[in-house]
Amino acid sequence: AKATGRNRVAFFEMSMQDEVEERLSIERDLALAIAAGQLEMFMQPQVNADCKTVGAELLMRWNHPVRGVIPPAVFIPVAEESGLILQLGTWTLHQGCQALVSLASAGHDLSLSINVSPYQFRQADFVQQVERAIDQSSADATKLIFEITEGLLIENVEQTIDRMREIAALGIRFSIDDFGTGYSSLSYLKRLPLFEVKIDKSFIQDIHDNSDDTAIVQSIISMAKLLRLRVVAEGVETRQQADFLIKSQCQVFQGYLYDKPMPISAWLYRQAG
Ligand code: C2E
Ligand code: CA
Ligand code: CA
Ligand code: CA
Repeated sequence: AKATGRNRVAFFEMSMQDEVEERLSIERDLALAIAAGQLEMFMQPQVNADCKTVGAELLMRWNHPVRGVIPPAVFIPVAEESGLILQLGTWTLHQGCQALVSLASAGHDLSLSINVSPYQFRQADFVQQVERAIDQSSADATKLIFEITEGLLIENVEQTIDRMREIAALGIRFSIDDFGTGYSSLSYLKRLPLFEVKIDKSFIQDIHDNSDDTAIVQSIISMAKLLRLRVVAEGVETRQQADFLIKSQCQVFQGYLYDKPMPISAWLYRQAG
């Protein structure tokens, strides 16, 4: 029993070390990825109840030369812990603004949702960065939606609200992403300059198997209605989920049922309208 115990400990330590090395190697490679042109922006359509595409979410992809495509769920946390997210975030803002301009000139009248990390948002010069990206691209700021998470609201709430107002004054709208997975209270929400809440896909996936999730989704929608916020459901995969959401008066839908995220070039070739 003793030997097994020791082995188990040894094994545990090995995998911990592997994990640390893995992280460091991702961090090293990520630091070079932007300059090496390995990062790419994909976009996933957002549709209304009539299935008309009204917007898109910008989602980052990393084409690693050896490992292949590394998902953002793996590299965004590393980027946030290492500080590289600031560089990635600035790049994303510029990419997003350029994408919006290209889409508009190809005849696509869409909003574009950009994920903004709390680390990025809290930078002293974040507002100036946003202004620069808009000025340099001449993008229409009123088409931009910043997706922030409830994590941003844990500290310095007053400062966060002030900054959100400054950004909203540029014409940019705000969405609370992964809604329902954090701790925002109604009283917070009504103080924020918000346009939208986005129901996390974990709730959508179990709508039909889990009565708690059904209730959560319905109460998020009625709360949003009360606060006059638009509701987006992410991770919609089945017709059944979509029908339930439409019936519950959700307004915008995003998920594999409609389309997967695709490269911006694929959008530009698509028929507008
Ligand atoms: P998120 O913001 O919650 O984005 C939704 C995720 O759900 C995306 O994963 C999307 O590809 C995926 N998805 C869309 N439809 C479906 C569906 O029908 N079923 C399922 N199972 N999944 C669906 P993705 O692209 O892997 O991104 C993961 C997370 O990485 C994002 O979660 C976001 O938090 C982060 N992320 C992605 N791009 C960026 C970025 O440019 N900046 C920042 N800060 N974070 C990003
Ligand atoms: Ca998002
Ligand atoms: Ca989510
Ligand atoms: Ca998220």
